[in-house]
Amino acid sequence: MVAAADDLDAAIEPIRAKLAAYRAAGKRMFATSSFQSHSLPLLHILSRLDNSIPVYFTNTGFLFPETLAFADSIAEEYGIRIIGLKPLVPKIHQLDHHGHLYFASDPDYCCFLNKVQPLEPVLMSHDVWINGIRGDQNDNRKAMREEERAPHGTLRYHPMLNWTARMIHAYSKRYGLRPHPLEAAGYLSIGCEPCTTKFLGDGNERNSRWFGMNKTECGLHTELVQK
Ligand code: SF4
Repeated sequence: MVAAADDLDAAIEPIRAKLAAYRAAGKRMFATSSFQSHSLPLLHILSRLDNSIPVYFTNTGFLFPETLAFADSIAEEYGIRIIGLKPLVPKIHQLDHHGHLYFASDPDYCCFLNKVQPLEPVLMSHDVWINGIRGDQNDNRKAMREEERAPHGTLRYHPMLNWTARMIHAYSKRYGLRPHPLEAAGYLSIGCEPCTTKFLGDGNERNSRWFGMNKTECGLHTELVQK
């Protein structure tokens, strides 16, 4: 069953109200995005509700070139402001004792250096971090609440937490959102090139990230949560 237009409108209304409340309270908001196909409904909603909210996008140095080009084209199409972030530690200082980049031997530390650490200064200078995690993506996300505390006194706001994959699909179809270009090649969950495989049709689409490893998150949604 496809989500009805009324259901989508009903799901967007609380987001509108929440953003207005944050704005009225003088909160400094920002969003983050990985510019995957399933990230686009949130960006599209933000562009329609308040396109002054900056969208931070971390170029880890390992992203597919298609993702970088796609992010630029979506920013122009939606009229949103993307602010690029880069890792603070150069890759030459990201080598393990074998001289290999950390993604092979210590992916958690690699994610810390390239994804978590670059976001720290942004957290320090804002009050509300809007990010599009969904509860149906994995158990860690399922356990989250709509609002969670983050480091540096920041509040995490998860407007899509209760959206389902079906709603994401219905919203994308309703507004004709262009998918990430690698989706047609069989990639459904797309992050850094060394840690992304094509979807093998086996369970959750996020299984195609860090395939074969005991790792499901990059740290943004584990380390940057304060219980
Ligand atoms: S996803 Fe892989 S390459 Fe990207 S930061 Fe994490 S471990 Fe490193």
